Amino acid sequence: MSKRAKECLQSAQSVYLACHMIPDGDAIGSLLGLGMALRRLGKACTLACADSVPAKYRFLACADEIVSRPPTSEAVIVTVDSSDVERLGSLYDHATFQGRPVINIDHHVTNTRFGTINVVQLLPSTAEIVFSLVRGMAVTPDRNIATALLTGLVTDTRCFRTGNVTARQLRTTIALIGAGASLADVTELVFNREPVSTICLWGQALGNVQTRGRMIWTEIDQSMMRRCRATPMEGDGLSSFLASAETADAAVVFREKDDGQIEASMRAGPAWDVSGVAQSLGGGGHPRAAGCTLPGPMGSARERVLRAIGAALDEQARQKPRAPAAAPIKGQ
Ligand code: 5GP
Ligand code: MN
Repeated sequence: MSKRAKECLQSAQSVYLACHMIPDGDAIGSLLGLGMALRRLGKACTLACADSVPAKYRFLACADEIVSRPPTSEAVIVTVDSSDVERLGSLYDHATFQGRPVINIDHHVTNTRFGTINVVQLLPSTAEIVFSLVRGMAVTPDRNIATALLTGLVTDTRCFRTGNVTARQLRTTIALIGAGASLADVTELVFNREPVSTICLWGQALGNVQTRGRMIWTEIDQSMMRRCRATPMEGDGLSSFLASAETADAAVVFREKDDGQIEASMRAGPAWDVSGVAQSLGGGGHPRAAGCTLPGPMGSARERVLRAIGAALDEQARQKPRAPAAAPIKGQ
């Protein structure tokens, strides 16, 4: 599968590389890591994202070269970390993507296989798939490539804390450190440099947490964003924090976008799966981290999502083997 991708890239003179809108660290890191590797092979490489690069990822080499235009004359299109074409936002239109190879490199279980070549592997990050591809094309990653890919790996695993981390991710990390990346620098820049506006936004959102059964959620509306002078990405990480509540099987953060649509960021506890709910509502993601975007207002979007998650949790509970009955406590 990735042999075809490798051959296609090796024979192309020019490549258009794109990641998903409202990009996270894996999207930007995979985009830049692959882009820099292709440039080392002498390819002309356009780097594209529909939205601007969040401030915390601007330390990455070539981050200031990312443009927001659709493909033009490039011979091949590559998408990274994008489970479906809607995630490309304004970069996608059907006619432009027709008539040339599209290589879809991604790690989401909900990936729609929209490429002419699909390199979809259910690893914790897209950056790891890019790392294999880069090495397969006989590029030895330099410090800048390694730093971009390590940023992708570290952000999508929340610094090796997600349930899907195995020895493989640690081995990849050792290889990236060996190629010149600094784990200390990446984690410092990604996790320890939050703007005060983020702290303010989290404070507002956490002041309003609600629970229903084994679900926990909160809402971020436009007035909170304005009050804190926060940007959309600054709620990132909040749904994972809510999911750390001991009694929660699922957590959701609802965010009102400036166009009035509501974005739901969902998380599930171990052995629960919210990817199906996200997909059924037009979104996608991973079993334990997924999302979707719904029409507003907040109240109706919230009820649609909570009802769907509640039903999914009930259904999944029915399918689980019953826990053995607790032994009676002595003396009772
Ligand atoms: P997050 O909650 O961190 O924004 O996203 C969690 C996961 O769900 C990510 O892997 C992301 O790609 C996916 N996701 C979030 N929102 C959407 C959406 O609106 N559509 C799709 N297809 N996936 C989404
Ligand atoms: Mn990712």
